[in-house]
Amino acid sequence: MRQVHHFISGAHTAGSDTRTGNIFDPGTGQVQAQVCMGTAADLDEAVQAALAAQPEWAATNPQRRARVMFRFKELLEANMDELAELLSSEHGKVIADSKGDIQRGLEVIEFACGIPHLLKGEYTQGAGPGIDIYAMRQPLGVVAGITPFNFPAMIPMWMFGIALACGNAFILKPSEKDPSVPVRLAGLMLEAGAPEGILNVVQGDKTVVDAILTHGDIRAVSFVGSSDIAHYVYSTGTANGKRVQAMGGAKNHGIILPDADMDQVVADIAGAAFGSAGERCMALPVAVPVGTETADIFVDRMRDEINKLKIGVATDPDAHFGPVVTAAHRERVENYIEMGVKEGAELVVDGRGASLQGHEEGFFIGPSMFDRVTPDMQSYKDEIFGPVLQVVRAESLEEAARLPSEHQYGNGVALFTRNGLAAREFASKVNVGMVGINVPIPVPVAYHTFGGWKRSAFGDINQHGVEGIRFYTKTKTVTQRWPSGDVQDQSFVIPTMS
Ligand code: NAD
Repeated sequence: MRQVHHFISGAHTAGSDTRTGNIFDPGTGQVQAQVCMGTAADLDEAVQAALAAQPEWAATNPQRRARVMFRFKELLEANMDELAELLSSEHGKVIADSKGDIQRGLEVIEFACGIPHLLKGEYTQGAGPGIDIYAMRQPLGVVAGITPFNFPAMIPMWMFGIALACGNAFILKPSEKDPSVPVRLAGLMLEAGAPEGILNVVQGDKTVVDAILTHGDIRAVSFVGSSDIAHYVYSTGTANGKRVQAMGGAKNHGIILPDADMDQVVADIAGAAFGSAGERCMALPVAVPVGTETADIFVDRMRDEINKLKIGVATDPDAHFGPVVTAAHRERVENYIEMGVKEGAELVVDGRGASLQGHEEGFFIGPSMFDRVTPDMQSYKDEIFGPVLQVVRAESLEEAARLPSEHQYGNGVALFTRNGLAAREFASKVNVGMVGINVPIPVPVAYHTFGGWKRSAFGDINQHGVEGIRFYTKTKTVTQRWPSGDVQDQSFVIPTMS
């Protein structure tokens, strides 16, 4: 059976443990490969390789590091089809979605190609008599990233794309559910010209995560995953003196005003709620139509739209979405549907029990929709992370806007309307990190930054864009004086410019 190894110092290695994890093919339900489970010793080997390689990489001028990024981008494009197939085979999402996953990561690499400009510091001439000040951004050293299963290409590239361009060495701990693409990315980065040891992958689970969080030579940790683990990573990492950004779960709302273009809304919410089987942190699993008439029309139209959706294996070009990632995850989603029924929500479409001919063992679940969900229901409060749309009816925009603002998660929100003034006010006031106006999945482009609020993110610095540069660098400020003659005045008080 195929084995997925660690990638340390430019070489594939099985590491020091015999423990392995199963990698499934979600379309068939069969185990297709095994992944090595790393130990603290494996992590330390990667850290030592990174420590050895990083100073020279940091001393390489930023233009040369940018050239590595350019070559890496070209390799991603040249290998797009193979990477997308590998990704889909372990994740289950349709090929077009896998290509989107890689493309959104590639766009961060494009941003990182501008690193000579992005790392330019600040300078003040004549801050005092003969005094100039300049500030520079220096890499942190060895940094690490821990990533979730749902974007095995994009999220690692959010992190290592920026970290490497800034002159750091990086250790990636990908999800154990779909670890093959991250290793391929590290191989391509080596091919692009990054020195051995600059990008290492250590496979595994909590054992490796804990080793990262307590290792004395890792300066910063970037995490993306569910909120409880994000909080654990944030509190443990910061207690160990590390800079940490930890992105968590989500429950994004799409508010529909009566003046919205309903054709557009139905198409957008169908894609945003059910695409990738709902396994996106920026999915739109809650629809909030405002007013009874809007709600009745929306539920009717959405029922028809759902009936047109086709589930299929990842390689089926006609499939709208594929299976979920594991049998355990499907069971979790089904349990939430059961919970919603028990809590009194109206199950308009039931996706449970879906089966695909010839793929009866695959982890498929059809699209579901609940109407008359209320904010006190646990199935509303929790993230389901599956193809389940919950409709919460509201009487006014104010009532609708309170829902995402008061929810424990605050990743994304969308408002569908033709009213510019209402949209402007909503965007300014809503207590959520990323807002879409007639945009169902408002994932910011690579040169902006990505980050939610409340329990969707712990720490202050967003992913990618200029905040990514900030996260992976520290500022050094130099105040210099070149006096024209002998210095007579020895002052023993704090210098001021008065
Ligand atoms: P997860 O939290 O189960 O796993 C994320 C990472 O943490 C993995 O690498 C995993 O190995 C590790 N991990 C798991 N259990 C751990 C433990 N007990 N201790 C230490 N480490 C542990 O998340 P997932 O199921 O892989 O991904 C889905 C979740 O990620 C969803 O909640 C989704 O909303 C979230 N997500 C958030 C964003 C965002 O930017 N906010 C983006 C993508 C996904």
